[in-house]
Amino acid sequence: MNEPVRDTRTLSCADDYDPNSMPVTKAREVIARFLQPVTAIERVNVRAALGRVLAEDVVSPLNVPAHDNSAMDGYAVRHADLKGDGEVTLKVAGSSFAGAPYQWAVKAGECVRIMTGGVVPQGADTIVMQEHVKAAADKVAIAPGHKKGQNLRRAGEDLKVGQVALKRGLALRPAEIGLISSLGIGEVGVYRKLRVAFFSTGDELVSIGSQPKEGQIFDSNRYTIHGMLTRLGCEVIDMGVVRDDPKLLERAFQEAASSADVVITSGGVSVGEADFVKALLDRLGEVVFWKIAMKPGRPLAYGKIGAAHFFGLPGNPVSVMVTFYQFVRDALLVLSGRDPVPPLPTFKVPCTSSLKKAPGRTEFQRGILSQDAAGHWSARVTGEQGSGILRSMSEANCFIILPTEQGNVTPGTLVEVQVLEGLV
Ligand code: AMP
Ligand code: MG
Repeated sequence: MNEPVRDTRTLSCADDYDPNSMPVTKAREVIARFLQPVTAIERVNVRAALGRVLAEDVVSPLNVPAHDNSAMDGYAVRHADLKGDGEVTLKVAGSSFAGAPYQWAVKAGECVRIMTGGVVPQGADTIVMQEHVKAAADKVAIAPGHKKGQNLRRAGEDLKVGQVALKRGLALRPAEIGLISSLGIGEVGVYRKLRVAFFSTGDELVSIGSQPKEGQIFDSNRYTIHGMLTRLGCEVIDMGVVRDDPKLLERAFQEAASSADVVITSGGVSVGEADFVKALLDRLGEVVFWKIAMKPGRPLAYGKIGAAHFFGLPGNPVSVMVTFYQFVRDALLVLSGRDPVPPLPTFKVPCTSSLKKAPGRTEFQRGILSQDAAGHWSARVTGEQGSGILRSMSEANCFIILPTEQGNVTPGTLVEVQVLEGLV
């Protein structure tokens, strides 16, 4: 067994918190102190970079746009030719279409037919929209009232050569993939994917394909965890179900920690089971067991096993998802190289349900955010909120977050919601 790397910021003496009533925000703070992002870089094709984290700034090799060009379909004119007090007639000398510029300079008394994106020819400094001219054969009549430089997009207006287009630490979405391509860049440096090993613990669990005997249940946590990790862009190592047996668990923890950056387990951290897992992890690394002042998801373990980060999630399927989204998600994003990690947006809407809530802990109730006929948004709960009812997560499209001090909620009260789905 390798001697675990001890961190100087030991968890066991992590300040002034009470491990039996750890506030959500405090637990997040403690975890954040231990996170060292991956540093290894891979070069990938721009298409394959979707969802990956930029490991270097993308610097523009070009001016964007490359030339002054027209923002409208119309006519490129010399502003000095226009009159302040009456109509002027200009000769249409040629055209400048996107990809087929006018090759000459616009002379006094001339204009050039131009389409959106067409390069503004030399001499011209203003675009007059086609709706604002009277066109006849090769002439156009233009009324007064046009501002010099109007309807023109300047070279380098979006980006100048050498300017940072995208910053290191950004996760690439379709918009960024398009932006990188618009610069003619075919390959980017991204951080290697975070490797996350996970397993379920429990004698009562059977995997799909086996017939559960009396008292046994199908393992679902491994499947939700697999899904959540995949969505975050992690490389996943599914280690299956491990029985509540010290020898098997020890082997699983060691194997997971030696092959992954992060180890996630579910089950085995609640009262009764935690002592035995704790004794094991005390030997293998440095792990703290917290009872978080939250519902669901009270028991949570966090620490290091060797160089790997360890998250011991509760066993109940809803608690797994809530603790994953409230603690593990952000930690994984930091470790993946995201910088900054943008906080998940929350906002307040009226709650149409009446909610039971005891002060003293943060609650993450499963909610449905919906719009009424008048366009007003409100939230209601999915129904029964038991931490074993996974259907509540499936029906929900938001968490209704009730802060520590909050008591019962009466219909009409504003509550904070966190949306579960993002647009991009
Ligand atoms: P534990 O924290 O291990 O005592 O588990 C708490 C509850 O969650 C028990 O009812 C377990 O049967 C259930 N549970 C634990 N692990 C899983 C799993 N992987 N899939 C579904 N339910 C689980
Ligand atoms: Mg268990």
